[in-house]
Amino acid sequence: MTGEAGGDPHVRSQLGAYALGALTPEEDRLIAGHLEGCAGCAAAYAEVADGAALLALFDEEDLW
Ligand SMILES: [Zn+2]
Repeated sequence: MTGEAGGDPHVRSQLGAYALGALTPEEDRLIAGHLEGCAGCAAAYAEVADGAALLALFDEEDLW
């Protein structure tokens, strides 16, 4: 996995936060729009959303 800096047009580095609903409404809208037009990120999001659903089963405090 390569580093994805700020100039990256894709949104993969933000998909985790997006799946958890941790982004601002503005970022949320930006990513939703990108996912509609980018099959690569949409596929990555499907995987991340699965992981986020699993993570949500654990209490955050259990991770510490
Ligand atoms: Zn993309």
